[in-house]
Parts: sequence; C-alpha cells; structure tokens
Amino acid sequence: MDTSPRSVDVLIVGASLSAAACAKRLVDAGLETVCIERKELPRHKICSGILSPRGHRFLLENFGPIPREILHEPTSCTGVAFHFPSAPSIEIDFDGGPTPHLYRRNSDWWAIRRSGVEVQDRTSFVRLEEVEGGVLVDLNRRGRPEQIRARWVVAADGPTSMVVKAVYPGYQETIPWFMVGQKFHDIVRCPLDTRYFHFWFHPGLGHYTWSHARDGRQIVGVGFDVGHNFDAAHRNVVRYLHRRHDVELGPAQDSEGCGENFGLSLINRYVFGRGRVLVTGQAAGFLNMMAEGMSAALHSGAIAGEAVVEAAFHGRPVQEVYRKHIESEVRRCSDQWNPLQILFARPHEADFWKALRKLGWGDRARVVSEVVKFAQLYAKFRWGRQILGQAFHRLVAGRYEAARWI
Ligand SMILES: Cc1cc2nc3c(=O)[nH]c(=O)nc-3n(C[C@H](O)[C@H](O)[C@H](O)COP(=O)(O)OP(=O)(O)OC[C@H]3O[C@@H](n4cnc5c(N)ncnc54)[C@H](O)[C@@H]3O)c2cc1C
Repeated sequence: MDTSPRSVDVLIVGASLSAAACAKRLVDAGLETVCIERKELPRHKICSGILSPRGHRFLLENFGPIPREILHEPTSCTGVAFHFPSAPSIEIDFDGGPTPHLYRRNSDWWAIRRSGVEVQDRTSFVRLEEVEGGVLVDLNRRGRPEQIRARWVVAADGPTSMVVKAVYPGYQETIPWFMVGQKFHDIVRCPLDTRYFHFWFHPGLGHYTWSHARDGRQIVGVGFDVGHNFDAAHRNVVRYLHRRHDVELGPAQDSEGCGENFGLSLINRYVFGRGRVLVTGQAAGFLNMMAEGMSAALHSGAIAGEAVVEAAFHGRPVQEVYRKHIESEVRRCSDQWNPLQILFARPHEADFWKALRKLGWGDRARVVSEVVKFAQLYAKFRWGRQILGQAFHRLVAGRYEAARWI
C-alpha cells in the first residue's frame, strides 16, 4: 500500500474570505488546490458583517450575484454613525449606496464553494517543514494525523494563525493583542438607526465600542484589554446606551469574543511569509479602520493566489512577486490609518469630512477634539512615532516601507 503523502500544487489553510479569493485565482489557473478548515463547514465566524463598497465589488466580480441566504436582517448597511461624549453624532454614508450585511457563516461557505476549490473541513494545520521543491504539512484530519505535500502553502487562517506561529516562532508574543466581545440582546426600545453601524469615540467606554441591529436583536460590543472583565465593560456600555441614547434592551441572550491582532496595519508591520509559505488576510495583519477586514482579506488573498500562479507558470520567485504586488493592498489598508492621507486624501469609501461639514463650526471643533482625546487611549502602545514616520515615507516615496514587513 502506498503510504506517501498526497501531493498537490497548493494547500490553503483556513476556509474564509481570503482563502476563497486565493482559491479562485488558483483554481481558475488550473492548479490542484486543497483548502483545509479546522471547523465543520459552514462554520460560525464572529463578525459584524459590514462590508465596504470595495469588498462588495470584489464579491460581485469574482463570485457573482449575492444570494439572500448569505445576508442578515437588515440585509444592507448604509454606513457608519459616529457618537461622541458631548459632540453631536454624525452619520457617514458609504460611497455608492448601501452594501450587503453579510452573514459570515453562509457568505464564506458560499464564496469557498463558488471558487471551486476542494475543501476538507474538520482538518487542522499542525506543523510544516520545507522540503526539496515543496512543503510537507502535518494535519489533524477528523482526529487522525495526516500529511500532505504542497508546492506552496497559503496561510489564510486569521489573526491567531498557526502557520505564522510555525514559520515565526515567538513572533505572536511580540505584538499587542486586543480582546473584543459582543452580546446579543432582545430589544425593548432602540432609537439607534438600524441602517447604520454605530461606533462610539468615548474613552470611558473602551477601545472599541459598537452596536448594530441583527436579525431582530441588538448587538452590543466592546473592546477591552487582555485580563480585563468583559461583562463589566459590556454592562457599562449598556447603561450608557440607556442614559445617553434612550436604548432599552432585554438581558443578553448570547455572548462571544475573541482576540485580535489589531495594530499591524497602523504601523506597516505586515507578515507575508517565507520561502514557499505565503501569509494573507488578517493573518498577515490586514485590518482596515472600524475593524473592517473583509475587503482586505479578499484582495490580499487574490494577490497571494496570483503570486503563486506567476511562480507556477513563469518560474518567478513567489515571495518577490507577492511582496511586490501586495504593495497596492498595503497602501489601501495603511492609508486608512495614515493621518496625512485622512487629512488630505480620501482613503475611506465614506466621506467623513462631508458629514462633518453639516455641523456648525463649534460642533466640528468638538468632534475633532473628542476624536483626538479618544486616540490618546492608544498612547500606551507607542505607535504615534511609527505612524508618523510611515506617513512621511508614504508622502515622499509614494509607498510604505517594505523593509518593515516580516
Ligand atoms: C467582533 C468582530 C467584528 C468584525 N466586524 C467586521 C465587519 O463588520 N466588517 C469586516 O469587514 N470585518 C469585520 N471583522 C474582521 C473580519 O472578520 C476579519 O478581518 C476577516 O474575517 C479576516 O478574514 P481572513 O480570511 O483573513 O480570516 P478569518 O475570517 O479569521 O478566517 C480564518 C479561518 O481559518 C480557520 N483556521 C484557523 N486556524 C486553523 C488551523 N490551524 N487549521 C485550519 N483552519 C484554521 C478558521 O477557523 C477560519 O475559518 C470583525 C472581526 C471581529 C472579531
């Protein structure tokens, strides 16, 4: 009996949106590709499901019309509403109209199937080893050890990537981690406009405080430091929503949370892999403003797939091609956090300045001052100098410094 491991062209780890976009490029090019997912599919993914216009366009162009079953209720999102401790709230609409409110369990599974890739669920990545002409990967498939040999591996396994851990042991202990948690409430009374994703620039509530409607319930979410008490932070927000916005919610029915590698895109510290292993999506550090990660996951995944196609058919060095072509996505993502771009360009597909201009001068000044006060919450991470350094480099060179990538 032949006990040698199966050989494929590409192994993708994780079955999310970055994986689907990557798989689409590889399958279209005729490369034998297997995508593994540790959970049973379709799998749950904690996410608000708010898609940027660019992410929306990517889905339509690559996977076709959006079916109803991949959407939550309300089925679309008009934009973002910002709230402040004392300044008036502002509503900022997405360019080009509302975008789909994705139900990640179904949308990711839909995109993966539309890519045509072979998927193995309940199969976890365990470790890898570069061998002559490829990578030998140990898996745990439905409780049994297995091996697969791939010419290239693409890590699309999200913020706590095991592949990143395998390629760069110790790296994940060197970056800051954020905890986010959300609870689902029955609604007694909620004047918050259901067409918007609501975000609070309020240092007294936490690093990241949000709320929105989903399937007849109201989500209340909060970001908090590792080691802090999620329940207490959440209770504080619910009380505040009641006091300030006249929101009355029933007790929380469900609750969930996770850790986020937020911060890498702010300071241009992406992780793109080594040798025949490429890292993409949020595993690489892509996260846009408002924790919008889906559009960057889709685009970076597609670029990883294109780099492998170049390597497979034109013998090009895969890392070199990937790192060259990923520059465009780095620019889009890091621009969203770049103060010079925010002031003088328009990196978001929603017009903050237009919304601000609707206010009188005094209120505009209060909004800006409260955003600045809120940003001081992040001072402890000492990102300020790095952000400014990268912003000036981008201004002068037209791109971010590739030497900072890992
Ligand atoms: C609370 C919250 C709200 C968010 N809201 C939004 C939003 O509204 N809009 C938005 O655009 N983004 C949002 N995001 C961010 C967004 O969810 C991510 O940026 C995006 O899903 C990243 O996609 P990805 O393809 O890189 O990886 P992920 O979506 O993280 O998927 C990784 C996949 O890999 C699998 N996997 C992990 N380890 C292994 C392993 N060892 N072996 C096999 N498989 C593995 C996982 O099970 C998962 O299926 C939110 C995130 C959180 C936490």
